[in-house]
Amino acid sequence: MTPEQLLQQDKNLVWHPYAAMGAGPVFPVVSAKGVRLTLADGRELIDGMASWWCAIHGYNHPRLNQAVEDQLADMAHVMFGGLTHEPAVRLARQLVELTPAPLEKVFFADSGSVAVEVAMKMAIQYWQSQGQSRQHFLTVRNGYHGDTFGAMSVCDPVTGMHSLFQDSLTQQFFAPAPATAFGQACTDEDIAQFRQLMENHHEDIAAVILEPIVQGAGGMRFYSADYLHRVRALCNEHDVLLILDEIATGFGRTGKLFACEHAAISPDILCLGKALTGGYMTLAATLTTEKVSAAIANHPPGVFMHGPTFMANPLACSLASASISLLLESPWQQNLTRLQEKLETGLAPCREHPGVREVRVLGAIGVVELKQAADMNRLQPAFVEQGVWVRPFGKLVYLMPPFIMNDDDLEALCAAVVQVVHQHT
Ligand SMILES: *Cc1c(COP(=O)(O)O)cnc(C)c1O
Repeated sequence: MTPEQLLQQDKNLVWHPYAAMGAGPVFPVVSAKGVRLTLADGRELIDGMASWWCAIHGYNHPRLNQAVEDQLADMAHVMFGGLTHEPAVRLARQLVELTPAPLEKVFFADSGSVAVEVAMKMAIQYWQSQGQSRQHFLTVRNGYHGDTFGAMSVCDPVTGMHSLFQDSLTQQFFAPAPATAFGQACTDEDIAQFRQLMENHHEDIAAVILEPIVQGAGGMRFYSADYLHRVRALCNEHDVLLILDEIATGFGRTGKLFACEHAAISPDILCLGKALTGGYMTLAATLTTEKVSAAIANHPPGVFMHGPTFMANPLACSLASASISLLLESPWQQNLTRLQEKLETGLAPCREHPGVREVRVLGAIGVVELKQAADMNRLQPAFVEQGVWVRPFGKLVYLMPPFIMNDDDLEALCAAVVQVVHQHT
């Protein structure tokens, strides 16, 4: 297939994320290695997106490739009902060791959204086991938790991408998004409405669900660890479970292995995904405590009602194990500090531009928030012209590079952002 044929057939045949059929420019990729994507016309782009938070070790990594090949020689997949295998058990043990106590039971799901559905069902079943019917969730605005119906119901109801489905969704409780910035102490006022909703409705709330510290697709906002700390305290006070969605933040992205460590708290239920397999294939996990899992087991029907066809896929589990080992063997903390400093200095010139509202950086996340939504159909090709892969949405031009990116590439990536922001906003 020539690149022209590919693009023509792509336009006719396949949907792209959050897009109209056949609309907008897409670029054919033929390979990816390290931090570079190679396009069909031979151009190489420095990847600033890590394929949406996932490819933390870069592309085509020999250790990850080897993990897939080794596992492939044994088995690609077997059903997980009534069978088990070492890749799943090994990964579960690694996840339990890595995540904060007392998370010690693991459910493998096939995508982040499904991990969120699983978490919400766990919370509802937990309260059933306690003889209570709690069907609702409390969250904050500007959140993003996935595209399936349960997950959509806790995404931001207004700015979220899912206002279209509002009438089909369970109505949940929404507090304002945390206003206190990361690094600052949260005021009583900032959490007052959250507290009020908790006090008024706790008997109907199965769990609070939040993205800790970083609100990702809902606005790339970084909020106070103290706010999160107070949420944990309120959950304890009112006997409500806490679900943390670390699908975007897990595995080092914010400078801690898990973002909840910024607040020194742990959830009752934790969702992981995205970087879990180092960006190679889809896998997610929902972890919970002995308390929650035992309560569900001890109440009729005594089972947790979820079981994906590709649950604990051995290829994906083997990759995830290899990716975690690779991360832990690397000087990832030093690396994250380096990335944070480079993003800070590299993006700082954007602050001078009148079209820019704010520049913020946390860990390996750099955000340039514009005053007005950018025209994607102009911006996207402009970044490709600059030799980088950056995909803005709305007012947000953001970077989340693979952790292995060297200083020269980081500088080039940031310089391209500065250049495109100056020329096109
Ligand atoms: C991406 C994301 C999800 C959904 O994960 P999918 O694998 O796309 O279903 C859920 N929560 C957060 C915080 C995410 O960033």
